[in-house]
Amino acid sequence: MVAGEPEGGPAGEGGLGPVVEWFDSHCHLQGRYLTGEDRRGGSPAEPPAPERVLEGVLARASEAGVTRLITVGTDAGTSAEAVALARAMGRADSPASAEGVRIWATIGLHPHDAAAGVASLDSLLAAEVDRPPSESETDRTVVGIGECGLDYHYDHSPRAAQREAFAVQVDLARRHGLALVVHTREAWGDTLDILRSSGASDRTVIHCFTGGPDEARRCLELGATLSFSGVVTFKNAADVREAAALCPLDRLLVETDSPFLAPVPHRGSTNEPSRVPLVGAAVAASRGIASTVVAEAATRNTCRVFGL
Ligand SMILES: [Zn+2]
Repeated sequence: MVAGEPEGGPAGEGGLGPVVEWFDSHCHLQGRYLTGEDRRGGSPAEPPAPERVLEGVLARASEAGVTRLITVGTDAGTSAEAVALARAMGRADSPASAEGVRIWATIGLHPHDAAAGVASLDSLLAAEVDRPPSESETDRTVVGIGECGLDYHYDHSPRAAQREAFAVQVDLARRHGLALVVHTREAWGDTLDILRSSGASDRTVIHCFTGGPDEARRCLELGATLSFSGVVTFKNAADVREAAALCPLDRLLVETDSPFLAPVPHRGSTNEPSRVPLVGAAVAASRGIASTVVAEAATRNTCRVFGL
Protein backbone atom coordinates (compact mmCIF):
# COMPACT_ATOMS: atom_id res chain seq x y z
CA MET A 1 0.00 0.00 0.00
CA VAL A 2 1.08 3.55 -0.61
CA ALA A 3 0.62 5.78 2.43
CA GLY A 4 -2.38 8.05 2.16
CA GLU A 5 -3.97 6.17 -0.73
CA PRO A 6 -7.73 5.98 -0.22
CA GLU A 7 -8.41 2.29 -0.77
CA GLY A 8 -10.49 1.79 -3.87
CA GLY A 9 -10.96 5.54 -4.02
CA PRO A 10 -11.65 7.34 -7.27
CA ALA A 11 -8.12 8.43 -8.09
CA GLY A 12 -8.08 11.59 -10.14
CA GLU A 13 -11.67 12.52 -9.31
CA GLY A 14 -11.35 13.43 -5.68
CA GLY A 15 -10.09 16.99 -5.97
CA LEU A 16 -6.62 15.99 -4.82
CA GLY A 17 -5.35 15.98 -8.40
CA PRO A 18 -3.72 13.07 -10.14
CA VAL A 19 -0.78 11.45 -8.40
CA VAL A 20 0.02 9.10 -11.27
CA GLU A 21 -0.45 8.87 -14.99
CA TRP A 22 -2.97 6.54 -16.58
CA PHE A 23 -3.04 4.97 -20.03
CA ASP A 24 -6.47 4.30 -21.58
CA SER A 25 -5.52 1.29 -23.69
CA HIS A 26 -8.78 1.22 -25.65
CA CYS A 27 -11.18 4.00 -26.56
CA HIS A 28 -12.97 5.33 -29.62
CA LEU A 29 -12.41 9.07 -30.06
CA GLN A 30 -13.29 9.29 -33.73
CA GLY A 31 -15.78 12.04 -34.50
CA ARG A 32 -18.69 9.75 -35.18
CA TYR A 33 -18.37 8.23 -31.73
CA LEU A 34 -17.80 11.53 -29.95
CA THR A 35 -20.91 13.09 -31.34
CA GLY A 36 -23.05 10.04 -30.77
CA GLU A 37 -23.70 9.45 -34.47
CA ASP A 38 -22.40 5.92 -34.30
CA ARG A 39 -24.18 4.86 -31.12
CA ARG A 40 -26.74 2.17 -31.56
CA GLY A 41 -30.15 3.28 -30.50
CA GLY A 42 -30.36 6.66 -32.17
CA SER A 43 -28.40 9.87 -32.46
CA PRO A 44 -28.98 13.32 -31.05
CA ALA A 45 -30.98 15.69 -33.26
CA GLU A 46 -28.10 18.12 -33.60
CA PRO A 47 -24.77 16.58 -32.70
CA PRO A 48 -22.14 19.01 -31.42
CA ALA A 49 -19.00 19.57 -33.51
CA PRO A 50 -16.51 16.74 -32.87
CA GLU A 51 -13.59 19.15 -32.41
CA ARG A 52 -15.36 20.94 -29.58
CA VAL A 53 -16.35 17.71 -27.89
CA LEU A 54 -12.81 16.37 -28.21
CA GLU A 55 -11.31 19.46 -26.58
CA GLY A 56 -13.44 18.89 -23.49
CA VAL A 57 -12.72 15.16 -23.47
CA LEU A 58 -8.97 15.78 -23.64
CA ALA A 59 -9.03 18.48 -20.97
CA ARG A 60 -10.88 16.18 -18.55
CA ALA A 61 -8.55 13.28 -19.38
CA SER A 62 -5.52 15.41 -18.63
CA GLU A 63 -7.07 16.64 -15.39
CA ALA A 64 -7.61 13.01 -14.32
CA GLY A 65 -4.00 12.08 -15.13
CA VAL A 66 -4.95 10.14 -18.28
CA THR A 67 -2.10 11.24 -20.52
CA ARG A 68 -1.96 8.41 -23.07
CA LEU A 69 -4.74 6.92 -25.19
CA ILE A 70 -5.17 4.40 -27.96
CA THR A 71 -8.11 5.13 -30.25
CA VAL A 72 -9.32 1.97 -31.90
CA GLY A 73 -10.64 1.32 -35.40
CA THR A 74 -13.47 -1.11 -36.12
CA ASP A 75 -13.64 -1.00 -39.93
CA ALA A 76 -11.91 0.77 -42.83
CA GLY A 77 -13.68 4.08 -42.16
CA THR A 78 -13.19 4.30 -38.41
CA SER A 79 -9.62 3.01 -38.73
CA ALA A 80 -8.76 5.75 -41.23
CA GLU A 81 -10.35 8.27 -38.87
CA ALA A 82 -8.40 6.89 -35.92
CA VAL A 83 -5.13 7.25 -37.81
CA ALA A 84 -5.95 10.78 -39.00
CA LEU A 85 -6.98 11.80 -35.49
CA ALA A 86 -3.88 10.37 -33.83
CA ARG A 87 -1.65 12.04 -36.40
CA ALA A 88 -3.40 15.41 -36.14
CA MET A 89 -3.29 15.26 -32.35
CA GLY A 90 0.44 14.56 -32.47
CA ARG A 91 1.13 18.00 -33.90
CA ALA A 92 2.61 20.54 -31.51
CA ASP A 93 -0.32 22.96 -31.89
CA SER A 94 -3.07 20.36 -31.35
CA PRO A 95 -5.56 20.33 -28.45
CA ALA A 96 -4.00 17.05 -27.27
CA SER A 97 -0.52 18.55 -27.19
CA ALA A 98 -1.92 21.54 -25.31
CA GLU A 99 -3.23 19.16 -22.64
CA GLY A 100 -0.12 16.96 -22.59
CA VAL A 101 -2.03 13.96 -23.99
CA ARG A 102 -0.58 11.49 -26.53
CA ILE A 103 -2.81 9.46 -28.85
CA TRP A 104 -2.06 6.39 -30.98
CA ALA A 105 -4.31 4.42 -33.34
CA THR A 106 -5.14 0.89 -34.39
CA ILE A 107 -6.46 -0.46 -37.68
CA GLY A 108 -8.90 -3.33 -37.58
CA LEU A 109 -12.12 -5.00 -38.62
CA HIS A 110 -14.61 -5.71 -35.83
CA PRO A 111 -16.49 -9.03 -35.92
CA HIS A 112 -19.71 -7.05 -36.47
CA ASP A 113 -18.24 -5.87 -39.78
CA ALA A 114 -16.33 -9.03 -40.69
CA ALA A 115 -18.50 -9.60 -43.75
CA ALA A 116 -16.71 -6.60 -45.36
CA GLY A 117 -13.53 -8.71 -45.49
CA VAL A 118 -10.07 -7.79 -44.23
CA ALA A 119 -9.15 -6.75 -47.80
CA SER A 120 -11.21 -3.60 -47.06
CA LEU A 121 -8.28 -2.52 -44.84
CA ASP A 122 -5.60 -3.19 -47.45
CA SER A 123 -5.02 0.32 -48.76
CA LEU A 124 -4.92 1.78 -45.25
CA LEU A 125 -2.51 -0.90 -44.06
CA ALA A 126 -0.32 -0.35 -47.11
CA ALA A 127 -0.23 3.40 -46.48
CA GLU A 128 0.19 3.28 -42.70
CA VAL A 129 1.76 0.04 -41.59
CA ASP A 130 4.08 -0.65 -44.49
CA ARG A 131 5.17 2.97 -44.65
CA PRO A 132 8.27 4.17 -42.79
CA PRO A 133 7.61 7.00 -40.31
CA SER A 134 8.24 10.43 -41.81
CA GLU A 135 10.92 12.72 -40.41
CA SER A 136 8.36 14.81 -38.54
CA GLU A 137 7.15 11.77 -36.60
CA THR A 138 9.16 10.54 -33.68
CA ASP A 139 7.42 7.18 -33.67
CA ARG A 140 4.57 5.23 -35.21
CA THR A 141 0.98 6.38 -35.30
CA VAL A 142 -0.43 2.88 -35.77
CA VAL A 143 0.43 0.55 -32.90
CA GLY A 144 -2.00 -2.34 -33.25
CA ILE A 145 -4.32 -4.47 -35.36
CA GLY A 146 -7.94 -4.65 -34.20
CA GLU A 147 -10.28 -4.61 -32.67
CA CYS A 148 -11.01 -7.96 -34.22
CA GLY A 149 -12.39 -11.23 -32.96
CA LEU A 150 -15.66 -13.05 -32.57
CA ASP A 151 -19.07 -11.88 -31.39
CA TYR A 152 -21.55 -14.73 -31.21
CA HIS A 153 -23.92 -12.65 -29.08
CA TYR A 154 -24.96 -10.27 -31.85
CA ASP A 155 -23.89 -12.31 -34.89
CA HIS A 156 -23.93 -9.18 -37.06
CA SER A 157 -21.68 -11.04 -39.54
CA PRO A 158 -21.88 -14.76 -40.33
CA ARG A 159 -19.71 -16.78 -37.93
CA ALA A 160 -17.59 -18.25 -40.72
CA ALA A 161 -16.79 -14.72 -41.95
CA GLN A 162 -15.95 -13.68 -38.38
CA ARG A 163 -13.54 -16.57 -37.92
CA GLU A 164 -11.86 -15.92 -41.27
CA ALA A 165 -11.42 -12.17 -40.64
CA PHE A 166 -10.11 -12.84 -37.15
CA ALA A 167 -7.54 -15.41 -38.25
CA VAL A 168 -6.27 -13.10 -41.00
CA GLN A 169 -5.82 -10.25 -38.50
CA VAL A 170 -4.03 -12.46 -35.96
CA ASP A 171 -1.57 -13.26 -38.72
CA LEU A 172 -1.31 -9.61 -39.84
CA ALA A 173 -0.42 -8.44 -36.34
CA ARG A 174 2.27 -11.06 -35.94
CA ARG A 175 3.80 -10.41 -39.36
CA HIS A 176 3.91 -6.65 -38.79
CA GLY A 177 5.12 -6.91 -35.20
CA LEU A 178 2.04 -5.07 -33.94
CA ALA A 179 -0.19 -5.62 -30.92
CA LEU A 180 -3.42 -7.55 -31.52
CA VAL A 181 -6.62 -6.15 -29.95
CA VAL A 182 -9.21 -8.89 -29.47
CA HIS A 183 -12.95 -8.54 -28.97
CA THR A 184 -14.72 -11.71 -27.87
CA ARG A 185 -18.28 -12.24 -26.75
CA GLU A 186 -19.91 -15.61 -26.11
CA ALA A 187 -17.17 -17.19 -28.21
CA TRP A 188 -14.36 -18.18 -25.85
CA GLY A 189 -13.73 -21.62 -27.36
CA ASP A 190 -13.36 -20.46 -30.97
CA THR A 191 -11.47 -17.31 -29.95
CA LEU A 192 -8.82 -19.24 -28.07
CA ASP A 193 -8.63 -21.91 -30.80
CA ILE A 194 -7.97 -19.29 -33.48
CA LEU A 195 -5.42 -17.45 -31.34
CA ARG A 196 -3.62 -20.74 -30.82
CA SER A 197 -3.83 -22.04 -34.38
CA SER A 198 -3.02 -18.71 -36.04
CA GLY A 199 0.04 -18.15 -33.89
CA ALA A 200 -0.93 -15.19 -31.72
CA SER A 201 2.07 -13.40 -30.26
CA ASP A 202 2.58 -12.37 -26.64
CA ARG A 203 1.41 -8.92 -27.71
CA THR A 204 -2.23 -10.06 -27.73
CA VAL A 205 -4.74 -8.05 -25.69
CA ILE A 206 -8.12 -9.44 -24.68
CA HIS A 207 -9.92 -6.10 -24.73
CA CYS A 208 -12.80 -5.45 -22.31
CA PHE A 209 -12.17 -8.73 -20.55
CA THR A 210 -15.52 -10.00 -19.27
CA GLY A 211 -14.70 -13.61 -18.42
CA GLY A 212 -14.17 -15.14 -15.02
CA PRO A 213 -11.14 -16.84 -13.44
CA ASP A 214 -11.31 -19.84 -15.77
CA GLU A 215 -11.28 -17.78 -18.98
CA ALA A 216 -8.59 -15.55 -17.50
CA ARG A 217 -6.32 -18.53 -16.89
CA ARG A 218 -6.89 -19.86 -20.41
CA CYS A 219 -6.02 -16.48 -21.97
CA LEU A 220 -2.98 -16.04 -19.74
CA GLU A 221 -1.72 -19.51 -20.65
CA LEU A 222 -1.78 -18.44 -24.29
CA GLY A 223 0.40 -15.45 -23.42
CA ALA A 224 -2.36 -12.85 -23.74
CA THR A 225 -2.74 -9.71 -21.65
CA LEU A 226 -6.13 -8.86 -20.10
CA SER A 227 -7.57 -5.38 -20.46
CA PHE A 228 -10.19 -4.50 -17.85
CA SER A 229 -12.94 -1.99 -18.57
CA GLY A 230 -15.75 -0.32 -16.61
CA VAL A 231 -17.44 -3.73 -16.42
CA VAL A 232 -15.14 -4.47 -13.46
CA THR A 233 -17.08 -1.83 -11.49
CA PHE A 234 -20.50 -3.33 -12.21
CA LYS A 235 -22.37 -4.83 -9.30
CA ASN A 236 -23.05 -8.12 -11.10
CA ALA A 237 -19.44 -8.61 -12.27
CA ALA A 238 -17.95 -10.50 -9.31
CA ASP A 239 -16.38 -13.05 -11.69
CA VAL A 240 -14.60 -10.29 -13.63
CA ARG A 241 -13.25 -8.90 -10.33
CA GLU A 242 -12.04 -12.40 -9.46
CA ALA A 243 -10.22 -12.50 -12.78
CA ALA A 244 -8.73 -9.06 -12.08
CA ALA A 245 -7.55 -10.33 -8.70
CA LEU A 246 -5.74 -13.37 -10.09
CA CYS A 247 -4.22 -11.75 -13.20
CA PRO A 248 -0.47 -11.22 -12.73
CA LEU A 249 0.30 -7.53 -12.30
CA ASP A 250 2.47 -7.54 -15.41
CA ARG A 251 -0.34 -8.93 -17.57
CA LEU A 252 -3.15 -6.43 -17.01
CA LEU A 253 -4.23 -3.24 -18.75
CA VAL A 254 -7.05 -0.78 -18.11
CA GLU A 255 -9.35 0.84 -20.65
CA THR A 256 -12.61 2.73 -20.93
CA ASP A 257 -13.87 1.47 -24.32
CA SER A 258 -15.46 4.92 -24.40
CA PRO A 259 -17.99 6.11 -25.43
CA PHE A 260 -19.38 2.77 -24.25
CA LEU A 261 -19.42 1.06 -20.85
CA ALA A 262 -19.21 3.98 -18.44
CA PRO A 263 -18.10 2.70 -15.03
CA VAL A 264 -20.03 3.07 -11.79
CA PRO A 265 -21.18 5.72 -10.79
CA HIS A 266 -21.56 6.99 -14.36
CA ARG A 267 -23.38 3.99 -15.84
CA GLY A 268 -25.58 4.85 -18.77
CA SER A 269 -23.78 8.09 -19.59
CA THR A 270 -21.38 8.67 -22.47
CA ASN A 271 -18.06 7.30 -21.33
CA GLU A 272 -14.71 9.04 -21.85
CA PRO A 273 -11.03 8.38 -21.09
CA SER A 274 -11.08 10.54 -17.93
CA ARG A 275 -12.96 7.67 -16.28
CA VAL A 276 -10.12 5.14 -16.60
CA PRO A 277 -8.94 5.84 -13.01
CA LEU A 278 -12.29 4.47 -11.80
CA VAL A 279 -11.58 1.24 -13.67
CA GLY A 280 -8.09 1.11 -12.20
CA ALA A 281 -9.43 1.75 -8.70
CA ALA A 282 -11.84 -1.18 -9.03
CA VAL A 283 -9.05 -3.46 -10.25
CA ALA A 284 -6.90 -2.29 -7.34
CA ALA A 285 -9.71 -2.87 -4.82
CA SER A 286 -10.22 -6.41 -6.11
CA ARG A 287 -6.53 -7.10 -5.46
CA GLY A 288 -6.30 -5.18 -2.19
CA ILE A 289 -3.58 -2.89 -3.53
CA ALA A 290 -3.27 0.84 -4.15
CA SER A 291 -4.60 2.20 -7.43
CA THR A 292 -1.25 3.93 -7.98
CA VAL A 293 0.30 0.46 -8.27
CA VAL A 294 -2.27 -0.52 -10.89
CA ALA A 295 -1.73 2.75 -12.80
CA GLU A 296 2.01 2.24 -12.95
CA ALA A 297 1.78 -1.44 -13.89
CA ALA A 298 -0.96 -0.98 -16.49
CA THR A 299 0.88 1.94 -18.10
CA ARG A 300 4.11 -0.03 -18.25
CA ASN A 301 2.29 -3.08 -19.66
CA THR A 302 0.45 -1.03 -22.30
CA CYS A 303 3.73 0.48 -23.46
CA ARG A 304 5.32 -2.94 -23.69
CA VAL A 305 2.45 -4.63 -25.55
CA PHE A 306 1.97 -1.77 -28.02
CA GLY A 307 5.70 -1.19 -28.49
CA LEU A 308 5.76 2.35 -27.10
ZN1 LIG B 1 -13.90 -1.04 -28.50
